[in-house]
Amino acid sequence: MTGPIEILYVGGWGRSGSTLLDRMVGRLPGFVSVGEARELWRRGVLENRLCGCGVAFLDCPFWTEVGLEAYGGWSMELASEMEADGRRLDSLGHMGWLRERAGSSDAARAYLKRLAPLYRAARDVGEAKIVVDSSKLPNYAVLLRASFDVDLRLAHLVRDSRGVANSWRKEITRVDATEEPGLMERYGALAASARYLVYNALTERLSHRLPHATRVRYEDLVAHPYETLSGMLHALGEPAGPDAFGWLHGTVADLGVSHTVDGNPMRMQQGPVPLVADGTWREQLPARERSVVTGLTLPLLWHYRYLEWSPAA
Ligand SMILES: [Zn+2]
Repeated sequence: MTGPIEILYVGGWGRSGSTLLDRMVGRLPGFVSVGEARELWRRGVLENRLCGCGVAFLDCPFWTEVGLEAYGGWSMELASEMEADGRRLDSLGHMGWLRERAGSSDAARAYLKRLAPLYRAARDVGEAKIVVDSSKLPNYAVLLRASFDVDLRLAHLVRDSRGVANSWRKEITRVDATEEPGLMERYGALAASARYLVYNALTERLSHRLPHATRVRYEDLVAHPYETLSGMLHALGEPAGPDAFGWLHGTVADLGVSHTVDGNPMRMQQGPVPLVADGTWREQLPARERSVVTGLTLPLLWHYRYLEWSPAA
């Protein structure tokens, strides 16, 4: 298929339910979910971690075919270069948020030219029209947007900052390592609040510049999945009728097999998954940390209607 590569980007910050949203959208006809494509070079090719289908990345039939179609096969050399170039080009310092178009340098153009076949092949091998990428970080989305070959739609996923901060405190074991399992990254209340503010503010900023962008609250997604997803798809210019939701039974989502790279361990889960809002922060987040997070993220808690006295939708 020719023409621009259509990407539905799940943006925002981690621990907001992006893996769940990614996988749910991936169940819709015409969409293929790839997980966090930004991490593909490192977690997939170089570290050969488990794909969402449960097989090591380099043995996964989906990614093997994508690699062959895009690059004639995966190579460590290409992956090392793409990993290093990507980290440099999408670093917050490099983005120049005040410039109209990030990624306008020769280096960025060369990187995007080499990156495009990856998305094109994922779309074609997945027999889809749109690739769902839950890389989350707004900086990577800005870089993607700089490619003239990409039609970027943004689903800005937000969650109550107290829930996000509580999740970053927890010890979560990686389940995708092919050798020794390790722990996922952790942040304290202050560091989590600062990142929550920065990444969500930058994602907001990006959303104002895209013709197709919308905001989704994690809490709405799990409580009213059909209404939330339908509204989101409509706003992103890809409306879907009830027939597209045969895998969704009330608040139970039948999640099938997906070939996601990196993300929350729930990406390996298959079959019916009950959608339940994780509100454990109300009991688990210590009072002092709760005050810190609430105070620091107050403007966004208000903006996203997470405060009792916030304006109605
Ligand atoms: Zn796979």
